[in-house]
Amino acid sequence: MPSMRAVRYHGPGDVRVEEIEEPRCGVGEVKIRPAFVGICGSDLHEYFHGPLTIPRAKIPITLGHEFSGTITEIGAGVTLAKVGDRVAVKPNLVDGGCVACLRGWSNCCRNLGFVGFSGDAGGMSDFVVVREEQAILLPAGFALDLGALVEPLTVAWHAVNRCSLRDARTVLVVGGGPIGLAVLLVLKARRVETVVVAEISVQRRELARTLGATCVIDPQTEDVNSKVRGMTMGMGADVAFECSGAQAGLDTAVTGIRERGTVTIVSLFVERPSVNALGVVLGEKSVMGAVIYEDGDFEAVIEAIWSGKLDPKALITSKIRMEDIVERGFQALVKGKDQHVKILVDIAA
Ligand SMILES: [Zn+2]
Repeated sequence: MPSMRAVRYHGPGDVRVEEIEEPRCGVGEVKIRPAFVGICGSDLHEYFHGPLTIPRAKIPITLGHEFSGTITEIGAGVTLAKVGDRVAVKPNLVDGGCVACLRGWSNCCRNLGFVGFSGDAGGMSDFVVVREEQAILLPAGFALDLGALVEPLTVAWHAVNRCSLRDARTVLVVGGGPIGLAVLLVLKARRVETVVVAEISVQRRELARTLGATCVIDPQTEDVNSKVRGMTMGMGADVAFECSGAQAGLDTAVTGIRERGTVTIVSLFVERPSVNALGVVLGEKSVMGAVIYEDGDFEAVIEAIWSGKLDPKALITSKIRMEDIVERGFQALVKGKDQHVKILVDIAA
């Protein structure tokens, strides 16, 4: 097999572009030439604090789980995928046999893994092999840079599906990073009347406004709770999404909703926060979690983008070469946090 480039994780602060052997396409698998690969907050966690979800025994591992590409080869037994198909990759790896999987909740699989974290491959490489069912077909002509945004958008899509929006007129999104902005886009696609975004960065507040937020609030200078109450005749938001990963954000979400309202936690907390349990009890509030996506979410997001209901293009703040992954990727996302939302690695550049 010829060799190829791959972005490989060797440990915290140690990510290298290396030449490794090109993967073989086995039974039921497809080989993909990745086009664009997004850098996720979880990649950053691994780079700066890891290995967290990457199994030590698997290191070095090729990174990249948010990606689009074109199928270049199909393995024996592949029935639907064809060479030349544009695809977005559904990267989660499930065991299919644990009690969560057997109940149909494979997104909560007790042995959940990911291409780009725990599998033998990742999208930040010249070629990657995945199972046929992980390659979700994009319509011909679907922009491949937007294809790399499908995975993070499905996380927001699922989070919005988890809570009932039936009577929700006012929704509070706490945190305007990549996840919060994706939730905002999905809420707008679902025609939620009023979406309030609380975010400390001025650039991200501006972007939230551009993406359709009804109102943006700086929680450092304004009281989110009283502002939301002022907009809802004293009631509070019907639903909140916690997308900041910070204690203050969770507090804001819990106090910002009305009685019997729901907070859905989407962010990944590194440190364990506390919850105002008395406030939850006295207001009969619900606090729940949402993780990754379910069957059908990729197709739903692709349809929403293709039909124009969801336009995530503004989330892309730069495109870089594979060789610049550390400087213009990981470092830029930390040092230039306010300037960036989603940085894509352009594999062909
Ligand atoms: Zn399972």
